[in-house]
Formats: sequence, structure tokens, C-alpha cells
Amino acid sequence: MSIGSVPLATTDLKIVEGDRKNSTMICAPVMAETVDEMLIQMGKAKELGADLAEVRIDYLKNFSLRSDLSILIKQAPLPTLITYRPKWEGGEYDGDESQRRDALRLAMELGADFIDIELKVAQEFYNSIKKRPEKVKIIVSSHNYENTPTVEEIGNLVATIQATGADIVKVATTAVDITDNARIFQILVHSQVPTIAVAMDERGLMSRILSAKYGGFLTFGSIEAGEVSAPGQPTIKELLELYNFRQIAADTKVHGVIGKPISHSKSPHLYNSAFRALGFNGIYLPLLVDGVANFINTYSSPDFVGYSYTIPHKEDGLRCCDEIDPIAKEIGAISCMIRRPTDGKLMGYNVDYLGAIAAIEEALRASNGAPASSSPLAGKLFVVMGAGGAGKALAYGGYEKGARVVVANRTYAKAKELASKVGGQAITLDELKDFHPEEGMILANTTSVGMKPRIEDSPLPKEALKRYSLVFDAIYTPKWTRLLQEAKECGAIVVFGTEMFINQAFVQVERFTGLPAPKQLMRDVLARNT
Ligand code: NAP
Repeated sequence: MSIGSVPLATTDLKIVEGDRKNSTMICAPVMAETVDEMLIQMGKAKELGADLAEVRIDYLKNFSLRSDLSILIKQAPLPTLITYRPKWEGGEYDGDESQRRDALRLAMELGADFIDIELKVAQEFYNSIKKRPEKVKIIVSSHNYENTPTVEEIGNLVATIQATGADIVKVATTAVDITDNARIFQILVHSQVPTIAVAMDERGLMSRILSAKYGGFLTFGSIEAGEVSAPGQPTIKELLELYNFRQIAADTKVHGVIGKPISHSKSPHLYNSAFRALGFNGIYLPLLVDGVANFINTYSSPDFVGYSYTIPHKEDGLRCCDEIDPIAKEIGAISCMIRRPTDGKLMGYNVDYLGAIAAIEEALRASNGAPASSSPLAGKLFVVMGAGGAGKALAYGGYEKGARVVVANRTYAKAKELASKVGGQAITLDELKDFHPEEGMILANTTSVGMKPRIEDSPLPKEALKRYSLVFDAIYTPKWTRLLQEAKECGAIVVFGTEMFINQAFVQVERFTGLPAPKQLMRDVLARNT
């Protein structure tokens, strides 16, 4: 299925002002036990930049209906959406149904901007309204906490909701796979009335953010992290600062990092900051993907343009490319995929090695003033510890730059296989302890030895480090591994794993945008987020 660019939703409540490029509102769920606390939360939501507050009165304890509702609506610093969600639809209210509906009718009379009524009882509710204040808009909602039905089923659901006379349709489903979001986007694109459509849970995050691209009426943003009214909600701050929500437009190009797990990734911070600084009309999302081929086939429109790949999908990513650069083919894994604008073909690259090699070259140049025209790695003895994904990238990188490569790995057979591909020598990690054919060698660690939490470990004893002029460690948690600390004590130049990470991000930003990466800004963002 293909998702195309769509016009923004048309509604008389449309908000497009200043540098806002979409009319999708950010709605803060307000859930507290007292009216005072709710008013404080609404104040915070306004300060954070929300457009309206969903007042979840089912969370209130011991409240006096008329007076408290009046205070909440009249003193609210933001437009209000009054929701009184019953237990049978995932809410907190467990009382008499007719009292619940009385409360919603009262909210209308008291001047609420929106009220939410569940589809199951919407018709009865409409029938019970005697005089409807003009201002209020009625949202008729349906929640599915199990899955996201087929597009036909959701289409029928939307039609049923519309038939009730709803001013605004709300459909919330549960994403069990990231491809479920595509059906949510289809609903938004085709809906004839203002529509709120989101898929809940971590795999549904993209539906919440891209609702701005597909013309959703609103998306929900929590006031505090973790204090959500439904699973998978981002915070208002994340929507505005991390995902540049106001700048998302119908033609915004979608990028992201494909991995599993992915919520820990710092990449969305780096790339979205870079895109914003460059004025580039793109967004970069964390993409929790279970099956790469399914993801790629589902999001096949020209607007889904670029991905970074991380563990465990680098090999599967390669199998989904139309064309693969020779290094990625040799390594057997990609770290970056770009849709070629001219023909939509998917191009696969491995830029991991560029990041690490650039960092090593930079440090060598800084130490010996070598000219920028030739690689300071050329002719050097380059020892790569490890023969996994990062090991392959480093070994091929060194080989490309004309270094003499030695692969040292715990499992000798893997060292041998990799060394044979880069015309190098293979040894075991044990043998590396007494390996000193010459002075001034370069050492790169790509094993996971020394990574958090086992920070006391090191892949090579300190004694052996004296023979190296430069030591690089791919590990970046912690930044100062034991290996790097000891290498420094032995007088070697040290190069951090964070340098590999940031350098490959520079390369990808440049490939995604066609513009020079804002390097200092990206460094600052990484420093703030690690
Ligand atoms: P991988 O494909 O799983 O390879 C792991 C390597 O470590 C293998 O060579 C393995 O040897 C070796 N190893 C694991 N445990 C060992 C132990 N106890 N003793 C000796 N050797 C051991 O992993 P990867 O993707 O290459 O990642 C490796 C490291 O690089 C990780 O720490 C990762 O965080 C880091 N990394 C950093 C960046 C960056 O941007 N800075 C990018 C990618 C990776 P065997 O073959 O004998 O199992």
C-alpha cells in the first residue's frame, strides 16, 4: 500500500499561524484527582505549548458535578475537551451511565469546546440532547486495545461514527506491527470529516507524529513523560522540540532509524536537530520494526525516503535494496538506505566505516600534520580486534585507505574469513598479546569487551598497548573504556566510539539532505543527550 501526500484537514477550528506548517492540534490529557491539580496541569500544558486540554473527569475523586465542572471549563487556560471515559471503554468511571451522560450534557451547557462520547452510546446521547450550544463540537470515539483492524473494517467504523452526526471522528487502535500505522494514515487521508486517528503502543508512535503530515485533527501529547492517557503517547516537549511537530507539512519527507529495540536511540535527537538547523523539510523517527521487508513494502511512497539501520536489521536491510554500494555488499550489511528521487529505487550503503575511519584519520592528521589529500592510514599496520559487524566495517575501511590489516578475533575462523577478504592477516585475540612486528601500529577495538556494565574488562592487557601509536574503541558506553584509559597511560592517541557514531551521522545527514551537516550543533546535541 502506498501513502501519498495529502492536503491538510479542513475544519473551522483550523490553526495555522506563525511558522506552523500544519493545523493538527496538540491535545494534553489532564488526569488528576482534584480540580486544583487539573487546573495546575492545564497551566503547565499551555506553557509547554499544547493547543487544548482533554479534561479526563473520570480521574476526579469526590467532585461536585456542576460547580467543579464549571470551574474547570471557565478557568481553564486552554480550550477544553471534556471526556468522562467509562471502564467499558478503557476509562476510570464505573458509575451510573445516565449520570455520566448528564455530566457531558452539562459540560456542553457550561461552555466546553469539545466533548467526547463513545460510539457505543453515541446515538442515545445525541437523542437525549434537547438544545445544543452552537460552540461545542462533539467527538465520537472508538478505542480498540487489541489490534488495528483491516482498512475496510476501520473504514466501516469511520462511516458508522460519521453516521451518528459526529463533528469529529476519533479512532484509536493498537499497533501490533509498525505497518499498522499505514492503515491509520489511509483513514486520515480519505476521511471527509475532521478525524483523530492514532495507533497506540510503541509501534504506533509514527501515527501520533505523522498525524500532522496526514491532516489529523489533533494528536495527544503528555505533560510529563510516563503520565500518559494511552500507551505510546509522546510528551508535548518531544512533539515540539524533538520532532519539530509544527514544521511537519503534507510534503515532509520521512526518515528514521530501523532497529529493535530502538527507544534508546539518540539518533532522532541528532537528525531532527540537524534537519531543523538546515531548514530541511524532513522528519526522522525511531522505527521499531519487526520485519524489514514488510516495512519497506508497506511504506513505498516517494515520501518515505531515508533510513539508518541498526541492530538487528543491517543484514535484512541489505536484502531489501535495489542497488547496494560495493563496500556494503562486501560487508554484507547496510547502515543507511536512501530512496533515489529519480526512480524511487532503494540504495543501500554502509557508512559505519566512514565514521570510524574519518575519526581515526582526523586524530592522526592532528598529531602529525599529514596533508588532507592522502590518508594517514595508508601503509600503516592496522589491527582490528573483533570480526562482527563493526569489525567488518573497520577492516574494509582500513583496507580501502591502503592500510595493512590484521584481524584479531576470539573465534579464529571468523578472523580468517574477514582477513582473507581484505588481503590481511588473521590471528586470535590471545596471540595479539605478543604481536609486535613493528612500533607505531594502529589498534581498533570492535569487540564488545569493556562495554557497560562490564566496564572493568578490556580486550587487551595494558602491557601490549605500548606498541600502538593510536587506539580506537567502537564502544561508546562508557566513553572512557578501560582500554582507552590504559592506552592513554601508555602514551597512545585515543579515539572515542562517540566519534564513530557522530561521524557516520554527519555522513548520513549529508546524504539525506544534500547539505553540509551542522557538525558543531550535532556534537552539542549528542553531548546533551548522552
Ligand atoms: P557483533 O557483530 O555481535 O560482534 C561482536 C564481536 O565481539 C565479535 O567479534 C565477537 O567475537 C567479539 N566478542 C564478543 N564478546 C567477546 C568476548 N567476551 N571476548 C572476546 N571477544 C568477544 O557486534 P558489533 O555490531 O560488531 O558491535 C561490536 C561493538 O561495537 C559493540 O560494543 C557496539 O556497541 C560497538 N559499535 C559501535 C558503533 C559506533 O557508532 N560507535 C557502531 C557499531 C557498533 P566472536 O566472533 O568470537 O564471537
